[in-house]
Amino acid sequence: MFNNRTLDQIKKLKTPFYYYDTGLLHKTLAALKSAADVNGYLVHYAVKANANEKILRIISEYAFGADCVSGNEIEQALQCGFKPKDIVFAGVGKSDDEIVYAIKNGIFSINCESLQELEVIDYFSGLQHKKSRIALRVNPNIDAHTHQNITTGLSINKFGISESDLYSIFDHPNNYENLEFIGLHFHVGSQITNAEVFVNLCNKINQIQSNLYEKNVTLPHLNVGGGLGINYESPVNQIPDFGAYFSLFEKNLLLFENQKLHFEPGRSVVGQSGMLITKVLYVKENLGQKTIICDAGFTELIRPALYHSNHKILNITSGSHSQIYDVAGPICESTDYFARGVLLPETQRGDLIAILSAGAYGEAMASQYNLRSLAAKYFSEDIVKQELVY
Ligand SMILES: *Cc1c(COP(=O)(O)O)cnc(C)c1O
Repeated sequence: MFNNRTLDQIKKLKTPFYYYDTGLLHKTLAALKSAADVNGYLVHYAVKANANEKILRIISEYAFGADCVSGNEIEQALQCGFKPKDIVFAGVGKSDDEIVYAIKNGIFSINCESLQELEVIDYFSGLQHKKSRIALRVNPNIDAHTHQNITTGLSINKFGISESDLYSIFDHPNNYENLEFIGLHFHVGSQITNAEVFVNLCNKINQIQSNLYEKNVTLPHLNVGGGLGINYESPVNQIPDFGAYFSLFEKNLLLFENQKLHFEPGRSVVGQSGMLITKVLYVKENLGQKTIICDAGFTELIRPALYHSNHKILNITSGSHSQIYDVAGPICESTDYFARGVLLPETQRGDLIAILSAGAYGEAMASQYNLRSLAAKYFSEDIVKQELVY
């Protein structure tokens, strides 16, 4: 996967570490930009997928906005070149301090998730003598048909305002003196690979917009969130088909005149540009079952343990005949596996393993459980000034 020169460099680095292919990230961002520009769609990168400073700086170069879910993410986005007017702030549990910080910075919109939160934002906006722009996050009760731990748009999920509460807000919009309602916001889940989910979302939004229209409410912005899935099975050099994704909305979503459509992709922007490199500490065999014990575990990449996700795993230093292995980490937990029963070249202590498609929700979800150190991160251009050869 790497050319020999790169591999020689990589072998010298202390493991485990994240490796980011910034060439692929740039290509992905350029593809996203040109697809979004076709229809004048506005993109806010979901910072929570990967908040690494260098990655954020690269993304902000493309004049995208940022979708933040904490005050610290807003601060990090501002520091990395995103403009306040392009930042949206979502989250089901915004603290008072975070709300005050968002108001102070005059970000584009606070995406509000409950009636009580509206009152709190209204109160703090009044204290600052400011009018805050609000998008109402609606829970559309749509099944994302993805892993249940990353489904967010069903009414059993904690996210968003119910449709009936939404309509009640517009029965008395003047209850909130310091708020300006500018849009509706939706986000139904993550790693969505079934186009029908987005079509269902569009149909639901059309219905909600038409109900609001009957109340004489037309809002200038619609934000349909993120969720576009990536190909974990054959990830090498993959750029998601943003054109096809956007055209689903172009075909199925009815916009009012001059209404702007916003998106918040996270995983699809950064997912394929990162991998986790880990060294094999031991290969053990119990009753015929071979288990590779790596020096990375769920402290570095929790997705397999948390969502039963399957990342492609490669042994990048051995190419001999294949065997079936379980691949585990060193953490003292039974869930600390990256994969079970995968075919890999015969693997030995000291080999290097690459876990692909780890650019999103990898480094960002790292922990120091077991008092482990955080993994280092390297960027392709730091290793050799030469593109990866796959
Ligand atoms: C997580 C999240 C996103 C990004 O989701 P992806 O599946 O990574 O595209 C977008 N919007 C909101 C509100 C989110 O919570």
